[in-house]
Formats: sequence, C-alpha cells, structure tokens
Amino acid sequence: MGYIMLGAPGAGKGTQAMALSKEFHIPHISTGDIFRMHIQQQTDLGKKAKEYMDQGLLVPDELVVDLIKDRLAQEDCKEGFILDGFPRTIVQAEALDEVLQELNIPLKTVINVEVPDEKIITRMAGRRVCNHCGGTYHMKYNPPKKEGICDQCQSSLIQRKDDQEETVQKRLQVYHDQTKPLIQYYKDKKILLTVDGTKSVETVTKNMIEALGESA
Ligand code: ADP
Ligand code: ADP
Ligand code: ZN
Repeated sequence: MGYIMLGAPGAGKGTQAMALSKEFHIPHISTGDIFRMHIQQQTDLGKKAKEYMDQGLLVPDELVVDLIKDRLAQEDCKEGFILDGFPRTIVQAEALDEVLQELNIPLKTVINVEVPDEKIITRMAGRRVCNHCGGTYHMKYNPPKKEGICDQCQSSLIQRKDDQEETVQKRLQVYHDQTKPLIQYYKDKKILLTVDGTKSVETVTKNMIEALGESA
C-alpha cells in the first residue's frame, strides 16, 4: 500500500513519515533527502537540483518524476511506501498515478498535515537536521537528547540553507501556488485524510495512526 504525506514546508511531513515507517515497516521516501544526498555527492542531478532548491523553487517535474520512478521500482517498495515531499504538482501526481498503475501498487491514503503559515516560520527557524540519516529535530519542540547531536547516528546536526526566513517565505508561496491544488485532487479520489499538524509530535502521530486504522 502506498501512502503520501502532503503539507506545507515544515508542516511535519518528514517527522510523521518517519513514525509511520516504523509503525508499518515500509520505506520512507523523501525526494528532498534524495536531492540533498545528490548535492553532497556532487552528482549532475545534485548540481541541477541545487540551483532550484537554494532559491526555494521546485526542481523541474521531469527530474523528480524520473527519480521517483526508479525508486518505486525497487524491491523494498513492493509491500508499500511512504512518499514525503512528492508529488508537489498536479503533473507529478498524474505521473505517479501512471507509475503505480504499471507497478500494480494501490495508493491507500494521502495524509494532509495541516499547519497555518504563521506557525511555519518558527518551525523552520528551529529545525535542525542530520545529513547522515535524515533525522529531523527542533531546538525547542523536538530537541535531540544531546544538543547538536543526532539521537540515531550521533552525527552533528546542521541547519538547512533553505530554512532561512526569506527562502521559507518563497517556499510557502510555491506551496500555495503549486502544491495546494493536490488537496482537491486527492479529495476527488476520496483518499484524503487531514490531520491537525499544530498538536505535539506525539499527538499528531497518535491521531494519524488511529485515523488510518479506521480507514483500513
Ligand atoms: P520541505 O521540508 O519544505 O518539505 P523538502 O526537503 O521536501 O522540503 O524539499 C526541499 C526542496 O527540494 C524543495 O524546496 C524543492 O526545491 C526540492 N524538492 C523536493 N521534492 C520535490 C518535488 N517533488 N518536486 C520538486 N522539487 C522538490
Ligand atoms: P516537513 O518535512 O513537512 O518539512 P519536518 O518534519 O521537517 O517538516 O518538521 C519541520 C520542523 O518542525 C522540524 O524542526 C520538526 O522537528 C518540527 N516539528 C515537526 N512536527 C512538529 C509538531 N507537531 N510540533 C512542533 N514542531 C514540530
Ligand atoms: Zn542521524
């Protein structure tokens, strides 16, 4: 079964995808993480993606769709997967429908994590991430056990370059213009589940898993 995490930048998609991945034992696939890995390894794709990411813009659809096609065809996705940060445009959503039809994997639920814009800025300002394992923390709301160190792999935590306020404003605008229409797209397919993302991390996880259980 396939799941999608939908929501504004900083809504908590990655945090909740990680929890769901542990609960359901299916892989967490973050297109943002994959791009950041390519940037670190200085691949051609990484170089191209970086130009857009640094400006808070979306990477062109063709690049993302090719990447996700390859990823979903891998063996570990056969039993299901959680997409985090993909799709982000209607073109990507339509491409995903085609890919999943070919692979014969149904899309079970699209989880829309709802957080108002005014809360996003403080979330992003405090976000710290692990470049090594993709772990995500917040200095105030979700701190690591040891300051500046990843709980899972002991690497140093960093602040993402695109989490500065100016870029976050741009990303929010991009979200409203290009990604928000997906809410209606999946509502029409009757697979949208909206959760209140303003609650604590644990409460959002609990509410989401309960609601998913009811829809099973
Ligand atoms: P966020 O925390 O805002 O959800 P992500 O880590 O998912 O951020 O993505 C970071 C950046 O990577 C985006 O601003 C965008 O430039 C690029 N990106 C990630 N996923 C996609 C996608 N599906 N389509 C286009 N660009 C993407
Ligand atoms: P996204 O993947 O949607 O961009 P993240 O999961 O990276 O979002 O979360 C963005 C920031 O907000 C991180 O610093 C994370 O620790 C924090 N965060 C996530 N969920 C919550 C929550 N329910 N309450 C407060 N802070 C949260
Ligand atoms: Zn780590």
